[in-house]
Amino acid sequence: MFLSVVVPCFNEADNVLPLYEKVCSTLENKADDFEFVFINDGSKDETLANLKSICDSSSHPVKVVSFSRNFGKEAAIYAGLEHAEGDLISLIDADLQQDPEYIVKMVEYLNENPDCDCVAAFQEERREGAFRAFCKRRFYRLINKLSDTEFVDGASDFRTFRASMKDAILEMSEYHRFSKGIFSWVGFNTYYMPYEAEERLSGTTKWSFGKLCKYAIDGIVAFTTVPLKISTWVGCLTSLGALIYIIAVIIEKFAYGIDVPGYATIVILILFLGGLQLLALGINGEYLAKTYIQSKHRPVYIAKEVLSNKK
Ligand code: UDP
Ligand code: MG
Repeated sequence: MFLSVVVPCFNEADNVLPLYEKVCSTLENKADDFEFVFINDGSKDETLANLKSICDSSSHPVKVVSFSRNFGKEAAIYAGLEHAEGDLISLIDADLQQDPEYIVKMVEYLNENPDCDCVAAFQEERREGAFRAFCKRRFYRLINKLSDTEFVDGASDFRTFRASMKDAILEMSEYHRFSKGIFSWVGFNTYYMPYEAEERLSGTTKWSFGKLCKYAIDGIVAFTTVPLKISTWVGCLTSLGALIYIIAVIIEKFAYGIDVPGYATIVILILFLGGLQLLALGINGEYLAKTYIQSKHRPVYIAKEVLSNKK
């Protein structure tokens, strides 16, 4: 089966050639023919130049989709899938943290198991700081509680799947993309293959802690509306509490003659309820903002250039 290797690249100048060579040496003789789809996600370094020289010199089909600016890895994956022509598609990062040997194993697994549509690399132990790993675990527990879609902790974007699954993913042309959710929302049978991530060959991760937090909120907003319901319920509960308190105050005044309740109570209530209101408004705003952007039907990415070495 013809395989497309899709590689999102953002400032990976020193990595693209070693990755290309490693994938070629691993896949040659082991897989049927394969093509590369590189996405240059608005890199500011020599990534595009290096990709062009790979495209010119490669004996395998190579496509390079170059974005007009940085649109993010999710958009890069989307563009890669749009340009992939294989019966099987492998997503792999450019930084060599993921050993291409696994692609061979994934393809073998799919060949042996016709019922299986996708093989995803699954990392049991995260090779990162304890705090980051802790936050990620918490995030997965939270989103799994809130959403009907299943999010597998440790499952990565490093995966190989059939063209039918690719078509389903491309049907989801939403602007705010959260691929971990998209992969499981479309369904299909997925096998989680244990793997160990390597160290990055060169450069640093593009994911700062702040970026990860924003991504986590995007994921929740994209795959569940439960936070909206929570704010309704909290509103109901506080209103009920307020009603009870009003009755208590009236009884105090008329039955016991206690007048002018404490200053502290009022300040605390104003601050607490004010905070809750702003929080609820913020949650509503998150959804509204996403709806607003989506309603503009902006493209997921803009390609400035698409190169191919196909004769
Ligand atoms: N990437 C991208 N656009 C971005 C950020 C990252 O295409 O805006 C690519 C990056 O070049 C790499 C992959 O996505 O090939 C994974 O990024 P990174 O290694 O920074 O993430 P990590 O492995 O730390 O999760
Ligand atoms: Mg990486």
